[in-house]
Amino acid sequence: MINLISLCQNAEKIGISGHIRPDGDCVGSTMGLWQFLSRRFPEKKVEVRLERPSELYDFVPGVSKIVDNEDDVVYDVYFVVDSVPERIGMAEKYYNAAKIKVNIDHHITNEGAGDMCYIDAGASSASELVYDLIKEADPEGEYMDESLAKTLYLGIIQDCGVFGYSNTSSKTMRIAADLISYGFDFPKLIDETFYEKTFLQNKVLGEALQKSVLCLSGQFIYSILTREDIDRLGAGEHDFEGIVNQLRYTKGVKAAAFLHEIPEGGYKVSLRSGGDVDVAKAASAFGGGGHVRAAGCTLKGTPGQIVERLTAQISEQL
Ligand code: AMP
Ligand code: MN
Ligand code: MN
Repeated sequence: MINLISLCQNAEKIGISGHIRPDGDCVGSTMGLWQFLSRRFPEKKVEVRLERPSELYDFVPGVSKIVDNEDDVVYDVYFVVDSVPERIGMAEKYYNAAKIKVNIDHHITNEGAGDMCYIDAGASSASELVYDLIKEADPEGEYMDESLAKTLYLGIIQDCGVFGYSNTSSKTMRIAADLISYGFDFPKLIDETFYEKTFLQNKVLGEALQKSVLCLSGQFIYSILTREDIDRLGAGEHDFEGIVNQLRYTKGVKAAAFLHEIPEGGYKVSLRSGGDVDVAKAASAFGGGGHVRAAGCTLKGTPGQIVERLTAQISEQL
């Protein structure tokens, strides 16, 4: 395991990034690491370079301090968390220029990159791995407090579906037990970040369900929202979370895909499965990745062409 203290004690500048379109685990793990390192090493420059997360996560300490990618800084240590280095967008130049490159991740498709890595595909979340590293660096919990505990707990619940997905282990539960002992209001956190949707998000979900198509003898379901649909609904990039899971909960379905057209062009594809289909394998075939039951990629082409390619990949596994 990486020792954060020996790794960082001689560094002056430390950088942290997570993947583009940051989700709750990405926010929890990057901000959790940032909170710990900036508290443990107050004399050092510790910075997070990340795409703007959903406003839902504005309460997380550190989010308001995310730096943009305008300047050139050579970091002594650079952490890529919850991602491969190729998926951190504009921040990749800082990773490439950094003196020591570190990769912390739980995606099965991540083969490990950089000078040091802590990759465990068995972990529920990158936040769980950051907890491990903090525990190792600070066994007495001197730098752990309510807000750091809440930040890591946020990341864990987002990636393990509030302990409902198969990536939840007894270790995940033990870590969660330790974290809630710091006293934050966890039922409120779960409601407000996992279950609660805005009126618009529910409308978008409704539209996606209306448009869904069941194929491969009822085993594959997909739904597509084009730019036209998205503009008509008035939806933004943060309004699609959770849709693919709802599609997957259709009786008889073994794999689900939700596609939405993205501002950069092409479609973001989110894939989910109940375990019989390896969606990480399907996503990898298109240059994406993820986990057996949850994966993603981006694809160019018309919705018809994309669906044809996806259906062929899924069908191969049924
Ligand atoms: P999403 O459908 O975006 O919620 O992603 C599901 C899982 O797959 C998450 O763990 C993502 O981090 C991962 N994932 C999504 N897109 C990609 C990609 N292009 N490359 C690697 N992993 C991805
Ligand atoms: Mn993530
Ligand atoms: Mn994750």
